[in-house]
Amino acid sequence: MTATKTDWIQRAAAQRPSTGLYISGGFRDARNGETFPTVSPRDGSVVAQIAAAGEQDVDDAVQSAHRAFESGIWSRTDRRHRQQVLTRLSDLILANHEELALLESTDSGHPIGDALAVDVPSCARTFRWYAEALDKVYDDVAPTPRNALAIISREPLGVIGAVVPWNYPLIISAWKVAPALAAGNSVVLKPSEQTSLSALRLAELASEAGVPDGVFNVIPGLGHVAGAALGRHPLVDKITFTGSPEVGRYFQRYASESNGKQVALELGGKSPQLVLHDVGDITACASAVAWGIFYNAGQTCHGGSRLLVDERVHDELLEEVIKVGRSLALGDPLDPATQIGTIIDDRQLESILGYYDIAESEGISIASGGTRIRPAGLENGYYLEPTVLDRVNNAGRIGQEEIFGPVLAVSTFRGAAEGVRLANESRYGLAASVWTQDLTRAHTAARELRAGTVWVNTFDVADIITPFGGFKESGFGRDRSLHALDAYSALKTTWINLGDAPLDED
Ligand code: NAD
Repeated sequence: MTATKTDWIQRAAAQRPSTGLYISGGFRDARNGETFPTVSPRDGSVVAQIAAAGEQDVDDAVQSAHRAFESGIWSRTDRRHRQQVLTRLSDLILANHEELALLESTDSGHPIGDALAVDVPSCARTFRWYAEALDKVYDDVAPTPRNALAIISREPLGVIGAVVPWNYPLIISAWKVAPALAAGNSVVLKPSEQTSLSALRLAELASEAGVPDGVFNVIPGLGHVAGAALGRHPLVDKITFTGSPEVGRYFQRYASESNGKQVALELGGKSPQLVLHDVGDITACASAVAWGIFYNAGQTCHGGSRLLVDERVHDELLEEVIKVGRSLALGDPLDPATQIGTIIDDRQLESILGYYDIAESEGISIASGGTRIRPAGLENGYYLEPTVLDRVNNAGRIGQEEIFGPVLAVSTFRGAAEGVRLANESRYGLAASVWTQDLTRAHTAARELRAGTVWVNTFDVADIITPFGGFKESGFGRDRSLHALDAYSALKTTWINLGDAPLDED
């Protein structure tokens, strides 16, 4: 029988999540005993006190990862062994599907339905996909002269520090941890302070699956303490970061001021959904546009937060988008019927509400939404209506800044050339879409759009099989796909002199 809202609420009240630092295959407190609260955005209540890693704890975790790497217990094992262990981890994630989904939902405010249908299966699939890839990826042989053989092989980098945000904790952690482990590295993961619980459970499951102690450590903690210590640690070989552009730049600084470690950054976005006059099916387009911004209450790095629409179809499309936005079930994340959950915390809520004042000062009208909701019994939770701001000047603050909430900024243009120009008028370049029935126009616009992902006549269709990352200030480096295995590997050339002499007769 499928669980009801009452069942989930009871289970949430009964859960006792692990809250320690996960170092060398076990939980422990921070050395100085410090903790921080993790708050459920559902009702503003404290779910648990989590151990806050200090500098010493980060050092413990990195040293443990380094020792494990040097020992070869994982880094030099047969890749088929790593394949078996990571496949087992994927199975364990699915075996603990409901528990992980509940942790994710209570901690991040994702609707339980999404956590069950998207977050947990996607995390499991990512581990399985990289495990499966391990005996299908070949090294290279270079086209040397006949008297030599040069093998180009991929070797693990060493210790990977992964620092992730709160918006998709399991999914984004898996994008980094799975290829890094598959490639033979050790990993120290620093989850966001808002959402540490699912990462801690993942670490336990990894040990159960057979990942050796020290190979995968999770250190919850505050960004400017634990995140900074990881970024500056001389034994970390690479930082893979997803989060805000500001913090991304700190990691570049930490790297240059420490050991010059590699840094890969997945940062923010202000992704345009570009609708040309020959869009075709307006209803399908409106649904994709609305879901493209309102899914996860707009807290998606590649969320389609700018709707750029040809003025010839503006009115018709906007009416439909607003209709979809109003039809979405906003409310209790633990209700299986809920489609849109919460904003992550009060700070983020205030930041989004601040943009409504900015919109007013820019003379922009709120075409729909714009109100904080306080559901009965959940008055202290962080709920915001899907909001549409119309007639936005793309060059103004609403058109340019990442709001990271359920807020769609609508601007108009006339003709595809002007539309593409407006779409590219942004410091970001994470994703974009173009809607048109004309094949040539679709291809040409897709080529011209400066973004890491361009969707044609759809939005937010994503899979582990394709790379994900940004152009411009949205960062560099790519998560997902086989390219991510390379991102966690170093290329080694082994040049063998075969000599010119013929073979001996012996
Ligand atoms: P954030 O940058 O504040 O935090 C991200 C991580 O960095 C957290 O783990 C945090 O603890 C840590 N951190 C914070 N300050 C730090 C510091 N001084 N030194 C070291 N580490 C520090 O981002 P957020 O608020 O958690 O997430 C929202 C942002 O993430 C948005 O800008 C969004 O666009 C971006 N994001 C990007 C992608 C992508 O793939 N491009 C995906 C999701 C989110």
